[in-house]
Amino acid sequence: MAQETIHREVVIIGSGPAGLTAAIYAARADLKPLVVHGPQPGGQLTITTDVENYPGFAEGIQGPALMEEFEKQARRFGTEFLQTFITKVDLSERPFKLYTEDHLIEAETLIIAAGASAKWLGIPGEAPYPDGLGGFGVSACATCDGFFFKGKAIVVAGGGDTAMEEATFLTRYASKVTVIHRRDKLRASQIMQQKAFANDKIDFLWDTEIREVLGTKEAGVTGLRIYNKKTGEESIFPCEGFFVAIGHKPNTDIFRGWLELDEVGYIKTAGRSMATNIPGVFACGDAQDSFYRQAVTAAGTGCMAAIDAERYLDNLPVPTPTGEEITIDGDRVMPNHEIFIMADGKVMPNRPDDAPGEAAAGD
Ligand code: NDP
Repeated sequence: MAQETIHREVVIIGSGPAGLTAAIYAARADLKPLVVHGPQPGGQLTITTDVENYPGFAEGIQGPALMEEFEKQARRFGTEFLQTFITKVDLSERPFKLYTEDHLIEAETLIIAAGASAKWLGIPGEAPYPDGLGGFGVSACATCDGFFFKGKAIVVAGGGDTAMEEATFLTRYASKVTVIHRRDKLRASQIMQQKAFANDKIDFLWDTEIREVLGTKEAGVTGLRIYNKKTGEESIFPCEGFFVAIGHKPNTDIFRGWLELDEVGYIKTAGRSMATNIPGVFACGDAQDSFYRQAVTAAGTGCMAAIDAERYLDNLPVPTPTGEEITIDGDRVMPNHEIFIMADGKVMPNRPDDAPGEAAAGD
């Protein structure tokens, strides 16, 4: 049950590059944003090592150090932070309502920068202990858990950049890393593929599905039951650790039913803005971007979302996913820009010298 009510002009959910960039912009616009985040602030960059492609760091920077800088910059302009877990949202009207165990958070505008989480294969033995061996040899984060696999033979599942990065990173500790991929071609970028192919400690097993993780709590992971799609044979592949690196899923489940999502769960935004289908709710970063998914693009969309929120609060029109533009008062400019519909329903041509009521909506 909510106990304390907090009311803010701008509430940002998420503290990765998107959320914190939105916070920096909103704070500098004097909107006193509140960033709501979970128990692991900083987003996915806090579980990576070298970040070499974030502009401004010629020698690269460690992911956690980069996120500390983001946070310091957001705090410097007055951003507040609240660590909590949002259990439910109500986006039916402004202020939007976010429920946590201890708070009711009311937001005049909401910026969703909730990011994405690792995906799992959904096979027996993979779940967290006691349902599976998660925490006892199964992981989805090499930088978090790699250290525990010194001198061990490890399998990484996946064929994208994440899998190549995890496999390469794990060779620091492992005696051997085998990448098991369901196809005979990697999806990873050329540079990441070449790095992995050039690494003596990394082997590849192609056209192979992983069907079960084998082992016990005491012994940890002892092997995988695998299936060769070309030969149709099933066999046991011995290993002592298993890392799942098959991509990520946007953290948008609590918005289902309110916001328009794509089939994977990414929040749909306007294209020309970060507006969602609900005026006053904006989305940015990996919760909204299924394509680029980079720290720098997340930061860019965070900036856009904050500017959109600021415009919206200033009663300026913001483009929506339908192509309309809408203000905080509910005044709408139609996609063709020829008709302006006031919140009270009055229809006007979008030309200053025409009289009200002369045009019809949808013309
Ligand atoms: P991707 O979606 O690119 O790759 C996922 C991989 O996992 C694919 O090879 C896919 O196989 C495989 N996979 C997915 N589902 C299953 C399943 N159920 N069973 C077996 N295999 C499965 O995700 P990534 O996380 O690798 O990358 C996401 C984005 O982040 C990319 O744009 C990438 O470039 C970027 N990135 C960049 C990094 C960097 O620059 N340092 C590091 C990490 C990520 P299939 O190929 O058959 O579809």
